Amino acid sequence: MRIGTLTFSDKSITTMYILKSKYLLKDPDNVIENGALLINDGGKIKFAGQFKDIDDADSYKTIDLGNSAIVPGLINTHTHLELTNMHKCINGKGIFTDWIRQLIDAKKDWSESEYTLSIRDGIESSLKSGTTTIVDITRNGIALNELLASNIRKLLFFEIINFDPDTAEDTIKDFKELISGISTDDLLSIGIFPHAPYTVSDKLYRKCRDISEECNIRTATHIAETEDEVEFLTSGAGHFVALLNDFKMLNRWNHPGLSPINYLNNIGFLNNECILIHCNYLTEDEIGVIEKSKSNVVFCPRSHEFFRHKDHPFPSLKDRGINIALGTDSLASNDTLSILDEMKFIRNSYPEIEPNYIFKMGTIAGAVALQMDDCIGQLHPGYYADIAVIEFQDTDVSNIYDGIFSQDSECVLTIVSGEICYDKFEISRKNNFKE
Ligand SMILES: [Zn+2]
Repeated sequence: MRIGTLTFSDKSITTMYILKSKYLLKDPDNVIENGALLINDGGKIKFAGQFKDIDDADSYKTIDLGNSAIVPGLINTHTHLELTNMHKCINGKGIFTDWIRQLIDAKKDWSESEYTLSIRDGIESSLKSGTTTIVDITRNGIALNELLASNIRKLLFFEIINFDPDTAEDTIKDFKELISGISTDDLLSIGIFPHAPYTVSDKLYRKCRDISEECNIRTATHIAETEDEVEFLTSGAGHFVALLNDFKMLNRWNHPGLSPINYLNNIGFLNNECILIHCNYLTEDEIGVIEKSKSNVVFCPRSHEFFRHKDHPFPSLKDRGINIALGTDSLASNDTLSILDEMKFIRNSYPEIEPNYIFKMGTIAGAVALQMDDCIGQLHPGYYADIAVIEFQDTDVSNIYDGIFSQDSECVLTIVSGEICYDKFEISRKNNFKE
């Protein structure tokens, strides 16, 4: 799969412009009333502050968003766009390995065009909900071209599955070949994603770590997702044994007798500030390991709810200062691909968590996990103009988060690198913006 270098010059905004609204949230702790952003012709923020402080405002075209909040674009740090059209196809109320069997079965006759459509729908609904950066997992690589055709910012993780240590080398060789023709740019990064400790050998995990260091790419993995996984690693028993036997994957397996995070730490995988997806079942000891290794955790709140897991330990992770970003996971275990919906869900389920912290999980924490916190996740001069505009009915809120997290709030405008990617009310057209 070789792709050429794509440029987005034909899509770029070629003029500087102003966005103004009742509220501007530059970062989760910094709310400005009657705020405005001046966006330069390179798609970056030149000014963020009060509208009245832009001296030469008349020189620029202005989009007046009225009673809305301009906020940093949301970051979805874990999803599988390939599965968007699996919504409500799979029952998650039973055991997790049954969900996996249903998923494999549902996908087995999908054509390439069905995958393409699924990915396209996923990108569209992400942009509609204010997501400006998406971290997608691909199994078959089809997502690459679809994502490249969109101006959304993306980190595409290539998923690695091979439980046989004898062929770990071949898997890495294939991966290297796959990525050799990909040209990354400001909007596209790639990474390596060993799937989970029940589908990837310890040898292959180590090779994934090595290649991430060699190629300077991010690593992530599903970990500590289910109690079944904990049982499989600690005692070599449980539902995963039957599943893997059915797929003839268990031939060379000796269970390590360690819990999931301790296992990854023991094999040396946690060296690279990697991104740990789920972490639903952790011991205090493992939380300490995550803290020490500076790994990032991605919490997928509504997917967690879908599988009826026990309470997530994220408040304890928060207390230890561990970076916790948000993901939607796929629509095979969720109802929308909206990080705004995830934040609202946390606000309702965990009223003790400060709203600005929740907003940080949906923005800055994702940027930190991607090691891009110097250019996305906040609206300061020099940052990319990755922006969501949230509209809410009650405009006299005493706290902006009451509006953002209210039931009726919605994203009405999404901008990536200064380019308008979604405009619900055609506000830009009504402002004569595109003339
Ligand atoms: Zn996942």
